[in-house]
Amino acid sequence: MPILRFFFNTMSKLSRSYRGVFVSLIASFGLITLLSQCQSTSSIVSISGQTMGTSYSIKITGLPDTQTVSQLKIDIEQQLTNLNKTFSTYDNGSELSAVNRIPVGEWIVVSDQMFNVLEAASFIADKTDGAFDITVGPLVNLWGFGPEFRVDQLPADTDIQSKLTMVGYDNLQLKDGLLRKNKSVSIDLSAIAKGYAVDQLVEYLKRLGVKSCLVEIGGEIRAFGKKSVNMDWRIAVESPFFDRREQEMTLSLRDYAVATSGDYRNFFSKNGKQYSHTIDPKTGYPVDHQLASVTVLHESAMFADAWATAMMVLGVEKGFSLAESQQLAILFIERSGDQFVRHETKFFQDYLINN
Ligand code: ADP
Ligand code: MG
Repeated sequence: MPILRFFFNTMSKLSRSYRGVFVSLIASFGLITLLSQCQSTSSIVSISGQTMGTSYSIKITGLPDTQTVSQLKIDIEQQLTNLNKTFSTYDNGSELSAVNRIPVGEWIVVSDQMFNVLEAASFIADKTDGAFDITVGPLVNLWGFGPEFRVDQLPADTDIQSKLTMVGYDNLQLKDGLLRKNKSVSIDLSAIAKGYAVDQLVEYLKRLGVKSCLVEIGGEIRAFGKKSVNMDWRIAVESPFFDRREQEMTLSLRDYAVATSGDYRNFFSKNGKQYSHTIDPKTGYPVDHQLASVTVLHESAMFADAWATAMMVLGVEKGFSLAESQQLAILFIERSGDQFVRHETKFFQDYLINN
């Protein structure tokens, strides 16, 4: 997903399609009232803008009377700027860029935020035997999906093999707020930091005392509380069509997060073939299978975000059994000719509404 496209791609690359929001919010169509001063508890306040190379949108009910929408927007954007200053690979002055310059073999202190995200990334890498790998950045760049964009032809296999030697999450060691690289690897948190930012904003809004909220950054979403007395927040999951937007199903979310990864929004085409921005760290090539999208429900947006990418790498077969064994709520949508086939884990089905 595309200022700081810290993790993501600019939208103007080659014939790459627009990186839209995979999961669209249907929570408040026609009902949003953007108020500028004191809010009654029944109003929904909507705030949106750009961050992390993509868009964000936030809906809030029960904004405390002491808050104005205009000041809240300023405060939220300050939070987002701070998160970018930690996690952006597009900003040479970010903490992540500094981390990527540390010498091999030295323990360095990282911020709590950085440590938490690195630990979560390492957890998912372990569970997926390295299908999720935050050191995949050199390959992401080689394929034209990173900050060092340049791809007007497919990378040569020799270049792919040479970048593969620079990949391996197990070269990162974490201990008590410290990080050490055992090899010269660089870290790309594009597949997890948006989710983390969503979690941070939800926690921030809870601390402010909002009654409920729905926070979305680049398609990673988390709900807190209920949209209204009678209704949870609702989310439409898109069908993974390359050329149009259709709703696949509706989910009901309360105090839960949802993230979708897919092959149908961020890719480029060359010689009639499409190349996804999800890279298999084992082969060095973009994933190439029939799995069109993965939607993950989780209490943490950070974990939902990362699991979704991890499952896109694993594919349906390995992904589904891992999802079941980890008790994850996941929907896999596979292409079969011009049809889509859904595979839902049993935990996922609890969130469906009339589908
Ligand atoms: P999606 O919503 O499709 O998951 P994200 O922007 O959340 O999109 O994550 C995709 C980004 O993750 C890529 O642009 C790349 O920077 C990074 N990435 C690609 N492959 C992997 C991988 N195997 N493990 C971790 N991160 C990856
Ligand atoms: Mg994601």
